[in-house]
Amino acid sequence: MKILVVGSGVAGICLTHELLQAGCEVVLIDNDKNASSVVAAGIINPLVFRRMTLSWRVSELVPFARKKYTELEQLTGNSFFHPLVIRRLFASEQELGFWKTKQELPEFSEYMETLTEDDLNFPLEQNTFGTGRVKQASYIDTNAFIGANLAYFQSKGILFRETFDHGELNAGQAIYKGHSYDFIVFAEGKDARYNPLFSYLPLQQTKGELLTIESTGIYAKESLNRKCFLLPLGNNRFKVGSTYAWDTDDTIPTEAGKQAIAENLKSVTSEAYTIVEHKAGVRPTVPDRRPLMGLHPDYPKMVIANGLGTKGYMIAPLLMHELANHLLKGTELNAESHISRFPYTRHS
Ligand SMILES: Cc1cc2nc3c(=O)[nH]c(=O)nc-3n(C[C@H](O)[C@H](O)[C@H](O)COP(=O)(O)OP(=O)(O)OC[C@H]3O[C@@H](n4cnc5c(N)ncnc54)[C@H](O)[C@@H]3O)c2cc1C
Repeated sequence: MKILVVGSGVAGICLTHELLQAGCEVVLIDNDKNASSVVAAGIINPLVFRRMTLSWRVSELVPFARKKYTELEQLTGNSFFHPLVIRRLFASEQELGFWKTKQELPEFSEYMETLTEDDLNFPLEQNTFGTGRVKQASYIDTNAFIGANLAYFQSKGILFRETFDHGELNAGQAIYKGHSYDFIVFAEGKDARYNPLFSYLPLQQTKGELLTIESTGIYAKESLNRKCFLLPLGNNRFKVGSTYAWDTDDTIPTEAGKQAIAENLKSVTSEAYTIVEHKAGVRPTVPDRRPLMGLHPDYPKMVIANGLGTKGYMIAPLLMHELANHLLKGTELNAESHISRFPYTRHS
């Protein structure tokens, strides 16, 4: 099969690898305007702290992601997958209570260390209600991941730097610029909003800002979390974030975003630091917090792979594996992420 993939963020990268491994001929195009995958912190956290629940499909997504990223490290000869301990500083007595109850349940104990006296008395000025450690967390060094994979595709001669032009597309026959494909997959992140084929879907653009800071005093053995995450990168550097601004398409870092992160940072450290980088990106989110996967209702050779939201690095490996199997073997897509859950309005 010959497949054109539009977009080389984490979605397009994972899908391209799946298709190549299955023996497909792949053409990957990207316009170098990546708004999310290169900015992201790349944290894979199996828990949702707010209500102390498990992340969606966690027992499938987490082991699959670990396996896939490790495989891709070997394939590209680079290192980007790092195991991580996340230490949550409880925000209230209630949150501590949730943890105590849930750590006893088998499905949660896979991801929660049983609280110890040391956790409860963790020596940090900001520790008021105790702390808990998350198991099976990790992070992807997103710069290294994107760089290594794009270099790999470039070495195979399949990556082209250009913007997809809908004026050159015959959607019914999947012919683009005179070349015929079995499928054309759009993995455009937040810019799927402007894709005339899929603009009927409720994709939101959720801007997020992030700081890289340097500090010799901040605790660097684990990733501290409360109101923000503080991700140790080594060499006294940390990523801190992030903010949420809905329906915002621009990727310009703002003073307000910087101040908001600095304020939240006080809930995990009072050590001095300097800011070395300030970035903004736009997450492709969906109101029901589930991805957007599937074939176009009128043009079944046109495919969308999007809506990875706030957890693209955790979700992409398995979801792109499932999408590849759907395209190549006709297996069913996961119903919760299928675009058929939204009514289709024909483009006029
Ligand atoms: C501040 C911030 C922090 C985050 N932290 C995390 C985190 O810790 N963990 C986590 O898992 N996720 C995190 N995310 C979310 C994560 O970044 C996204 O879920 C994920 O990157 C989305 O990937 P994608 O491939 O769908 O989109 P993108 O990464 O946006 O990639 C889309 C690609 O398509 C290209 N493109 C678009 N339109 C066209 C076109 N017409 N022609 C050619 N190319 C085109 C773009 O240039 C881009 O390279 C964060 C996001 C932000 C903004």
